[in-house]
Amino acid sequence: MTSHSTPQLKILFASSEAQPLIKTGGLADVAGSLPIALSNRGQDVRLVLPAYPQAVKMAIPLTTATTLELPGYRGTVRVLEGALNGRVPIYLIDAPGLFDRPGNPYTDADGIDWGDNAKRFALFCRAIVVISLNRAGLNWRPDLVHCNDWQTGLVPALLAGEGSRPATVFTIHNLGYQGNFDRATFDQLELAENLWHHNALEFHNNFSLIKGGIAFADFITTVSPTYAREILTPALGYGLEGLLRYRSDRLRGVLNGIDYGVWDPASDPAIPQHYDTASFGLKKVNKTHLQRELGLPVKDDALLFGHIGRLVEQKGADLIMQILPGLLKFAHVQLVILGSGDPALERYLRQECGKHPDKIAVVIGYNEPLAHRIEAGSDIFLMPSRYEPCGLNQLYSLRYGTVPIVHRTGGLADTVIDATPRNLLNGSATGFVFNWPDLASIWRTIDSAIAFYGRPEIWWRKLAVNGMKQDFSWNSSAQHYLEIYREAIDSPAPNPLAWRSLL
Ligand code: ADP
Repeated sequence: MTSHSTPQLKILFASSEAQPLIKTGGLADVAGSLPIALSNRGQDVRLVLPAYPQAVKMAIPLTTATTLELPGYRGTVRVLEGALNGRVPIYLIDAPGLFDRPGNPYTDADGIDWGDNAKRFALFCRAIVVISLNRAGLNWRPDLVHCNDWQTGLVPALLAGEGSRPATVFTIHNLGYQGNFDRATFDQLELAENLWHHNALEFHNNFSLIKGGIAFADFITTVSPTYAREILTPALGYGLEGLLRYRSDRLRGVLNGIDYGVWDPASDPAIPQHYDTASFGLKKVNKTHLQRELGLPVKDDALLFGHIGRLVEQKGADLIMQILPGLLKFAHVQLVILGSGDPALERYLRQECGKHPDKIAVVIGYNEPLAHRIEAGSDIFLMPSRYEPCGLNQLYSLRYGTVPIVHRTGGLADTVIDATPRNLLNGSATGFVFNWPDLASIWRTIDSAIAFYGRPEIWWRKLAVNGMKQDFSWNSSAQHYLEIYREAIDSPAPNPLAWRSLL
């Protein structure tokens, strides 16, 4: 749908990953779909990303749009131009030696952060700044730059020093990742000395790239209303809660949408059997296929739990490990896990899978098509994240009629409605929600989910189909971002270096 009812904005969307070019997590889903949703609303939006080899390969055909000479980098930076979905222009920043290496955008093949990450992403930010100020020779000046996570945190800080600049919005996808480096790194980056200030980038004698975004952006957003409140507390503010509270009049929580063009059981090319709300009964064909694919006994009366995600404490992977023995006691329960992360957790899961091949299937690694088949084939999706800024898998689960069991935190609290007797009666329930990330609380909820599955099938079907009917498309979120963009353009924030004091 194209709407030209509001004046068109020129928006530069800056991200360190974007689906389908390169993905390590939810940020890629957002950067791959929000720009398209904005473009569908008639906005002139362009995406800027580092030129990782995978991204270059996926974005072909590419042309060299311009070249740049940037401070702190010996060599010529090329700006390659392609298109996302054949529609949204993409600029890939090609700085030889910095992004053209194997592995993931942030770590080497062993999962260790690249030692020069500060240099890599500072260079990326400097290229974004030159493009934003229309000094790159692209003949395009954005009204607003939308930055995402610490990798783009320097952009608002560098732009704040410019007389005439585009507005800036900075989105926090996960405050647990801050891009903190030491003073020597700050010096190597040849940043202006006045940025070494507690109102600016300095953070407990180190410097923090995410602080550049939080202190300097005209508006800050995060990916759910509940997480926007949680990051103002010491428990989830990671030392930045004071600064965030100071800026809370310019902090908004906007739920991520999902791309139903990619995640829809009625048309998903990755799943063996399509289904929708009217043909929910067909979903179990996907269960049969998944059991066969992963070597589990094929039983359509099994209650199949699925989990997909990074195997780290934030995602509650250790909690899954602790409830595993209890789950195995239920004769009809099976469990499928897809993920990678903490080597100790990976080892434990492999071992358990080896001991109980009739109950557990574990796939260590990253596998997008399998993720779709797990969403389609499971009955329950387990997502016990300790904290969750938004979370996407529970949204995919809802769409696939795979009832989520989640912790009441962040975006999980905002998107899953607990199957209490009252919510079941008034028809609002979509899943099971536990209040605390501890075993007692989780077990109370798992026990009631298992008991509920044992009731007449119509009850379960009603709960699952209600989840399928929820609308988490980008429509309302893209509109919300547009409103924030306009506010940011209309009311630039004061430079934090001019704040009287912070704390
Ligand atoms: P985060 O960004 O914190 O990792 P999100 O729930 O926001 O978590 O997004 C994770 C995204 O990555 C989802 O699209 C999820 O399906 C996908 N994902 C995570 N791990 C895997 C995996 N091992 N294989 C395939 N997809 C995965």
